[in-house]
Amino acid sequence: MYSHRKLFLENCAQTSPAPMGLEIIKARGLYMTDVHKKKYMDLISGISVSALGHAHPKVVRAVQKQARTYMHLMVYGEYVQHPQVKTAKLLADILPQNLHSVYFTNSGSEAIEAAMKLAKRVTGRYEFVAMENAYHGSTQGALSLMGNPYFRDAYRPLLPGISHIRFNHEEDLNQITRNTAAVFCETIQGEAGALVPEANWLKALRKKCNETGTLLVLDEIQAGMGRTGTLFAFESFGVVPDILVLAKGLGGGMPIGVMISSAENMKAFSHNPVLGHITTFGGHPVSAAATLATLKTILQEKLWENAQHMEQVFRENLKHPLIKKVNGKGLLLSVEFENAALNFEVISQCLKKGLVTDWFLFNDKSLRLAPPLIINEKQAKKAAKTIVEILNCIQMK
Ligand code: PMP
Repeated sequence: MYSHRKLFLENCAQTSPAPMGLEIIKARGLYMTDVHKKKYMDLISGISVSALGHAHPKVVRAVQKQARTYMHLMVYGEYVQHPQVKTAKLLADILPQNLHSVYFTNSGSEAIEAAMKLAKRVTGRYEFVAMENAYHGSTQGALSLMGNPYFRDAYRPLLPGISHIRFNHEEDLNQITRNTAAVFCETIQGEAGALVPEANWLKALRKKCNETGTLLVLDEIQAGMGRTGTLFAFESFGVVPDILVLAKGLGGGMPIGVMISSAENMKAFSHNPVLGHITTFGGHPVSAAATLATLKTILQEKLWENAQHMEQVFRENLKHPLIKKVNGKGLLLSVEFENAALNFEVISQCLKKGLVTDWFLFNDKSLRLAPPLIINEKQAKKAAKTIVEILNCIQMK
């Protein structure tokens, strides 16, 4: 009998010096089961993906039905594929007027790349402004926007004309000029540690973009789809972007991304050159069918309301002298500790007790809590109680 773990280390390209290495054989709802039959509560949703939990029956049914009907037919944008059309229409129906045209991709990074290209065409400019500690993906363009030098600089040279400003600092907005094609901003910064902006700052950012003819791109790849207490995170802050980017939770566990703007802006992709942005698999029918089922379920069950409620449950139950602060919004929360060593100790103890948590790429002092949006009060209380018990034990040592 061969060991899957050994093969994982030998034959699957490794990107982490210390992969979590969980060997899951089944996942349903909030829980995952490993090869040793140990059950884990998933408090990170595969990094903000499994919004409806694992293998939600409605998503599974949609996937099975679509796989039987047809899978790949043609590269994106040529055939009228019903799952794509219905998903785009539903997104257009629930978004503001200027966000009615949906370009489908396979992933978040690809949707960001598409947004960068569209902004160049619409404005005729090439400079971009992004935020310090921003994460927009790992492809060359998205990496150029990344606001963390450690993860970015080994891959230079990157795209020219990109500068970074501080999130939530009004004085930095002066760096947005008439040469700026677009500002890229996560509505709530994920990898920085679930950092919530001041509403006034986001409004000032919107105003500055209007004054300079710059497009505002909001990346809600992590913060969208109900996770942060409203269906779209920007709804809480009274701003509307020119381009909205979604992925992760959108597909209910299937790979998909979207870049949404006005039909007028999107026209730039269809002339000079024609086929200005091409993807073979973007908006794959099976992923699009899963997305439609996910979106309908989120809307029917108003899962953003549960996210608001569960935020309160976590906040009320996560009280301990070793917890400095709970940051974030809805079910994109970060539990901040004094230092990274304590955080890693808590994460590893959580795993032993069957709770999957994580740190953040740019914030290793904080523990990530981003469970499926279907988590209930009893489960949230149990998770918080386990974390507090772990902290009690650590404190007594
Ligand atoms: N933007 C944000 C805010 C993200 O969190 C991520 C993924 N962690 C991405 C973009 C990139 O998405 P993907 O990994 O699907 O390319």
